Amino acid sequence: MPRKKIPIAVPPGSKWCHSCAEAKPCQMFGVDRRNADGLNYCCLRCADGKLRERLGRSAEFSRVADRLRAMNRVSDPTRPKVS
Ligand SMILES: [Zn+2]
Repeated sequence: MPRKKIPIAVPPGSKWCHSCAEAKPCQMFGVDRRNADGLNYCCLRCADGKLRERLGRSAEFSRVADRLRAMNRVSDPTRPKVS
């Protein structure tokens, strides 16, 4: 995968946040050991926002899954009928 071009020169001790597209001090970045520099590709503020978004989405997903499961329970034709 080609690396995204960073539009400005990032000063030493700073890192480019690919999410908010701003150079920020390294202290503003979370740790990610998979990265060459050991820091997350986006700053803590962006990471926090993404995490919230993901948690929100998974909560939404489990709500939908619950509803589907409930529907299946009602209309499952393989379910033996109680007579
Ligand atoms: Zn950011």
